[in-house]
Amino acid sequence: MSSQSNLNPKELDLDEIARKIFGEKVEEVAKWCIRREKEGKHHALPKGRVANVFIVIEPVSRLIIRHEQETTDVTTIPTYLGYIVPAILNTKFQSGAVRRQMLAILHEWYSRNKDKDIVKSELGIDDYTCAMRPYLRRQPPQKQAQIPEEFEGYCGNCPNCLIFGYAVQEGGSYNVKSRVEGDIYVSVVPQEQSIVSVTFNAVDDIGKTPYRPEAPEEARTGALYEFRMVEVGTPFVGKLALRDMTLAELLLTLATVTRTTRIGGRKTHFGEIKMHVPAVLFSKYEVGSGYEIAHSILSKHKGKRLTIEEVVNEVVEYAKNFENQGVLVVDRELRDKLRSLSEAELDAIILQAWKDVLVLKQSLELFVCKGK
Ligand SMILES: [Zn+2]
Repeated sequence: MSSQSNLNPKELDLDEIARKIFGEKVEEVAKWCIRREKEGKHHALPKGRVANVFIVIEPVSRLIIRHEQETTDVTTIPTYLGYIVPAILNTKFQSGAVRRQMLAILHEWYSRNKDKDIVKSELGIDDYTCAMRPYLRRQPPQKQAQIPEEFEGYCGNCPNCLIFGYAVQEGGSYNVKSRVEGDIYVSVVPQEQSIVSVTFNAVDDIGKTPYRPEAPEEARTGALYEFRMVEVGTPFVGKLALRDMTLAELLLTLATVTRTTRIGGRKTHFGEIKMHVPAVLFSKYEVGSGYEIAHSILSKHKGKRLTIEEVVNEVVEYAKNFENQGVLVVDRELRDKLRSLSEAELDAIILQAWKDVLVLKQSLELFVCKGK
């Protein structure tokens, strides 16, 4: 197969690709998705279609999950049951991991396909430079740690921008809200059994004193330092709500989620994960939450350290509670199916998703009255 054919939608039908992922539920899923073939103001309005994507995050190496820079401890949350458990905030997951992964997928696709007619003529892309450039707003130094990171560098015209949203920096009259809404990812293993303290020896081993995070900056001369880390195999549960997606946008977002392989601090050394997506509920409303799922598992198993398989089974059982709320796809192999999409299949998904987001962009512009 020539690489040109990757971008010929006639040869690879999106419905057939979707059938590989959703099996016998494909027609119901496709019907649930938004169709956005031509621009129109109505595309700017919320459609009330939510794909509730239930997720289990499996650390396959130790994780450094911290809330802000000044903290050296793992982020934890208390539960009503009395257990304190590690938790991953959605900013770490969505902006720090999934969104970066989508950008990588889009840039890889663009670098292979940029000279093709369809990319230039139909999508109108001359140069694709969309990027996440994090920065901190200028503030007095003593306040630095409390300022959330912001991003610039978004192009405002690609699936990354129109699925995850962007703020118009200058001259624009509207912001695009993210259609991916996260939650908190909560571990089902109490901190005593899931967080370890690990001491590392720095390369320039001079001071020989332990690193003490509470010491003032100038006193931190030690070459030994300690990290608090989440132990391998500690499952986290959560849910993403994907709103008003076309079939291609849905497939691209799910493919990206399952290709997300690192999270947290010091990603060059730590933070490798496996993303499991054992259930997706397509409904009119958002249902369930990471905290609620974790709470039900903790109360049933009394804080026992469960295997990933056991947690996946619990999440599936939880999702089945909502079966009458819409179309429920339960499939423990969903992750593997999404990851085994061929290059040609993923290319076809990206091309269609790109077309779909451009129609959305034009529709948003119509809506904010550039025209009537
Ligand atoms: Zn962009």
